Amino acid sequence: MSSENKTYLNCVHCGKCLPVCPSYNIGFNEFLSPRGRVRIVLTDYTDSLPLKAGKVQESMSLCLMCGRCEKVCPNDVNLVELVANEKIKLEEFTNKSFSSDKLALNILKNKREILLKTALKIANIPFVKKLSGRNSPMPEGKSFIGKRDLIFNADTSLEKSPSPSLKNGKAIRQSAVEDDKNIFKVGYFSGCVFNGIYPQISIDTVASLTKNGVEVFVPKMQGCCGLPFISSGGLKSFKELAVNNALAFKGKKLDYIVTSCASCSYSINKLYPKYFNENDENYTEILDFSKKLISIWSFFNQLKKNGFEIKKGKLDNEAEAVFHIPCHLSNMPDFKPATVYEKLIGEPGLIADKIEGLKLKPLRYNYCCGNGGMFNVGHYELSKKITKRKFEEIKEAAPQEILTSCSGCLFSLKDQSGILKHNQSIPVNHLIGIYARSLRS
Ligand code: SF4
Ligand code: SF4
Repeated sequence: MSSENKTYLNCVHCGKCLPVCPSYNIGFNEFLSPRGRVRIVLTDYTDSLPLKAGKVQESMSLCLMCGRCEKVCPNDVNLVELVANEKIKLEEFTNKSFSSDKLALNILKNKREILLKTALKIANIPFVKKLSGRNSPMPEGKSFIGKRDLIFNADTSLEKSPSPSLKNGKAIRQSAVEDDKNIFKVGYFSGCVFNGIYPQISIDTVASLTKNGVEVFVPKMQGCCGLPFISSGGLKSFKELAVNNALAFKGKKLDYIVTSCASCSYSINKLYPKYFNENDENYTEILDFSKKLISIWSFFNQLKKNGFEIKKGKLDNEAEAVFHIPCHLSNMPDFKPATVYEKLIGEPGLIADKIEGLKLKPLRYNYCCGNGGMFNVGHYELSKKITKRKFEEIKEAAPQEILTSCSGCLFSLKDQSGILKHNQSIPVNHLIGIYARSLRS
């Protein structure tokens, strides 16, 4: 069952969304624009201009579900939901038994991520790479989440290590501060990429929290947020994953649940409530989980609002960097930028300001990185074209380092970072990684 969305009826075809839409800007094809997609859906319902299913499928599958059009639309047309609903319908209609997307999705569904790691290792064998014509990320260490729930005490100092929880034997135990009202207790939702592919981001996120006096709970049962599934029309799997995640945190006394992946927070905050209703068995748990989950940046702003001093760090070597704002980093409801970096990049600016030695340079347009989750899997060459446009503005800023805060962006930016300096890759990192590094210095 798709969600109820009639906002497309408000589209007046004004075209304000065209300049920001990455799929339209590949070749200026109206079928690949937000208003073109609205037109297709209207056509579908009125039968005034019958379109072949293939054409509808092409238009919908080439939407990155980035939501950039929604941010500029004067009539609140909810394009992402419209596209997701069309994909769900198409999936039910076509129901292909095999596709590369489906294979990738089945791999992602495996909670322990053994299949994901094995698949990526195979994809990185030189002749397989040559055959497929694509780069796939290589898992950078052991998965962050293991076989047991973890609790990290406030002020526990984590060194760089693939499994910090097991380093000092302290992590797995009951909270030492059960009744301390002055200590924030949060859950950490890693998402599949920051668990299995880039686990250092999870280590750095937890370290940044504990060093700021926050206690962190990491349940072993969590898995993929489901975004790759809903963006492929797989509503059933999306809902199964959502329920699994909500139940993993159920009943824990947590002030917030924090994630460092912008796409995970988009999926959980915005999409979970749309695809569940009172008739669903775990509706209450889904709503509770969705309301409690916030981005790491929003959480630090909450700490500040509650009178906590956010710790300052210092880099050993000064770095000039750019921050790529992920399309899905949009949840900043009551945030008023005050500092220079907050004005430049929004909520993450609070943390950027705390890193002595970090100099952020502006990006002229902040184009989309081209990842789009399953878009990169299904349309790698088109995805690369969008990433290349991103690098035109990065080149202008000539940074020593590229920072961001989304797993998909991290992958595409890392993948193409060699194009800046004649195949000499420029480091790409999560801002929380640089912050953790500055705290360790
Ligand atoms: S900005 Fe909104 S109303 Fe204007 S064309 Fe795009 S979707 Fe339609
Ligand atoms: S969600 Fe992104 S790719 Fe899709 S129509 Fe909107 S701007 Fe274009």
